[in-house]
Amino acid sequence: MSDHLTSTVLNSLADGELSADQRLADCPHCTSTALTQSLLKSATFRAGHRYTPPAALRERLAHLSAQEASRPHPKSPVPERPARNFSSWGWATAVAMLLLFATLFLVQRNTQRASANAALTAEVADLHIARLAANAPRRSSPPTATP
Ligand SMILES: [Zn+2]
Repeated sequence: MSDHLTSTVLNSLADGELSADQRLADCPHCTSTALTQSLLKSATFRAGHRYTPPAALRERLAHLSAQEASRPHPKSPVPERPARNFSSWGWATAVAMLLLFATLFLVQRNTQRASANAALTAEVADLHIARLAANAPRRSSPPTATP
């Protein structure tokens, strides 16, 4: 059950400001919490009235309170604009550098592969032309005499 009584309602019940409603009767958890709150408040009330502070302690506390109230409060520091955490900038820089190096690596590898393919194509073409030239009949050579 997700609609338990809020702590505000439970405190109001313990203080007697509200009367118990149907939800308190239906939910054991709320009932237990309300009972705990009520017992805690009554025990605190009784403990608070069990002892009376000595007059010297009252005077000392009053003096300290007055002293604290008369002291000028330091002006609250100007709220600095939230500085970026250095580590977040460091991570962003690291990621940017990683992407840059990966891109450079891929571009270089593709360029090398393309130039290697071009060199291989040129070599195959040269070998093919040389083979064709070797098989072609030579016109400049004189015909050999047959015996
Ligand atoms: Zn409940």
